[in-house]
Amino acid sequence: MKAVRNLVHSVQSKHVSSPETLVERGLIPPDHFEAVTEACKTLPVRLTSHIAAQIDSQNLTSPLAKQFVPSPNETFVEDDEIADPIGDVTHSPVAGIVHRYPDRVLLTPVLSCPVYCRFCFRREFVGDGLLNNDDLESAIDYIRNHPEIWEVILSGGDPLILSQRRLGEIIDALDAIDHVAVIRVHTRVPVVDPHRVTRTLTDALKRKTPVFIVLHCNHADELVPEARDAIAQFVDNGFPVLSQSVLLKDVNDNSDTLATLMKTLVQCRVKPYYLHHGDKAQGTSHFRTALAVGRKLISQLRGQLSGLCQPTYMLDIPGGHGKIPAAEDYLKLENDGSWTVVDWKGNTHQYLD
Ligand code: SF4
Repeated sequence: MKAVRNLVHSVQSKHVSSPETLVERGLIPPDHFEAVTEACKTLPVRLTSHIAAQIDSQNLTSPLAKQFVPSPNETFVEDDEIADPIGDVTHSPVAGIVHRYPDRVLLTPVLSCPVYCRFCFRREFVGDGLLNNDDLESAIDYIRNHPEIWEVILSGGDPLILSQRRLGEIIDALDAIDHVAVIRVHTRVPVVDPHRVTRTLTDALKRKTPVFIVLHCNHADELVPEARDAIAQFVDNGFPVLSQSVLLKDVNDNSDTLATLMKTLVQCRVKPYYLHHGDKAQGTSHFRTALAVGRKLISQLRGQLSGLCQPTYMLDIPGGHGKIPAAEDYLKLENDGSWTVVDWKGNTHQYLD
């Protein structure tokens, strides 16, 4: 047990990690306690002190409160919501590996996160948990024995919650596999626990194999000075940084909020990569917009933002069938062989090949 504890950075004392503490801090009203306790049986509550300090108990509809404070709404499960919305289990040949696309795999060495986002699509799986040494070795063996794997995505959970020693060992093992050309790290740490990003952490990730950092960030309010400094440490140390965001009702579902988020990310030297449509995870319908709303927003962004700031709007097809771009079509092939193209103002034009 002691050994396992040492593999994960010690952050427990800083966290808000129980429904009781939420009531004590005025983050939920006492009459929500029972429903929130029920919701937290599936996805525990956890807020870092960094995030908790930014949530004002007088403003529980703020973008940060909505994302991290559990709500009784999580106990309502729609008929079409499923436990494993993107089919991780179906595509897992060995523990700790999800192999959905031929040339890349997800490696999940840890299932814990520094915070638990209330819309999490892996809400049935995340929580305290670490891949044991034997399973980790088998997962690395799987990658070693599949030469078609070009890219390994470290995800979870949040891999940057691991101790720097453990993380360094994993990166070393991947760096030694010739056919692994790129490593990607999916993380929320720079915005939810920014002081975790140190020179020791960036050193643990730096090898000859390029490591891309993909930051999960959903609102410009997450990009406070400490978070910007943490991001800068990655960029200044030579790591390309991309972002992924989730389209969330009452958090970022309007074009001005999204435009501010994407511009602020670019100012932090982060290239917006994906804007995900909300997955049909159980108990998350209060966060999900209609697909038509997302498509309209993304076309509004086309007129508002430079190409540098544009994310690709993605739908993960429920059941594990993979992701597809979900933006509106700007090209239509007519019967006479010409194309009708739509500009950013919505005007149509004819294009001939
Ligand atoms: S950081 Fe990612 S895996 Fe962890 S709770 Fe948030 S969405 Fe889920």
